[in-house]
Amino acid sequence: MKRFFVILATTLSLCSCSVLGGINWNAEGLVSAAGKAATAASISDDMVVELSRQTIAQMDAQSVIDHGAYEQRLSRVLSGLKDLDGLPLNFKVYKTKEINAFACGDGSIRVYSGLMDVMDDDELTAIIGHELGHVRHKDTKRAIKNAYVASAARDILASAGSYGAMASALLGDMGEALVSAQFSQAQEYKADEHGCQFAIDRGKNPYSMYNALEKLMQLSDGGNGSVIAHMFADHPKTEKRMERMKKMADNYTASKN
Ligand SMILES: [Zn+2]
Repeated sequence: MKRFFVILATTLSLCSCSVLGGINWNAEGLVSAAGKAATAASISDDMVVELSRQTIAQMDAQSVIDHGAYEQRLSRVLSGLKDLDGLPLNFKVYKTKEINAFACGDGSIRVYSGLMDVMDDDELTAIIGHELGHVRHKDTKRAIKNAYVASAARDILASAGSYGAMASALLGDMGEALVSAQFSQAQEYKADEHGCQFAIDRGKNPYSMYNALEKLMQLSDGGNGSVIAHMFADHPKTEKRMERMKKMADNYTASKN
């Protein structure tokens, strides 16, 4: 199956010893909390934030982070964007050929250099707006919760590794959930609308979201499916999404004339 990666992650800083809700969030606390977490409903918002922070911290540590031209371009494209509904945002570029971006519920946004290579500034803005939509709509929060529960439900906790190794495996599972999140069609539609509006609000081409979707579909046709993920799972759905984004841009343009 062709998969497209656009991952939006919020940045989280590792806090190995904070106390949240009576849980000591070092590696041991992370694992023993997982052992007790039977359902998504039992996971508090504070836990989600801390899980997100630790997940991103691990991903950052395992990635090559650009501090050159990519970082400069991203900060120019997103200049002035400091928070989302009061949630402080932070951005980093992962240097990789993969075409992806993701956001995490703590305000961390991670953009892959492979995505920046194929998108112009307007399209990049729309895609980041799409990912911010997933954060604003709490989609990423649910993804983290579900991944944590699924991971805890497996026998990973019964393995003979150290707490550190088990915690690392848990965080790896949650990172994977962010990178290849499978959101529902309704969630994607809402995130697309958010991306389109975000681009418009920042003075970009109203067709930026539409153009970005079209470009990703063309790239997948060119045999690049292995490096593209998440938002663009299959063509009928992508075409439907493009249709909706064209209509939204048409309506906006008509309202300005
Ligand atoms: Zn999405």
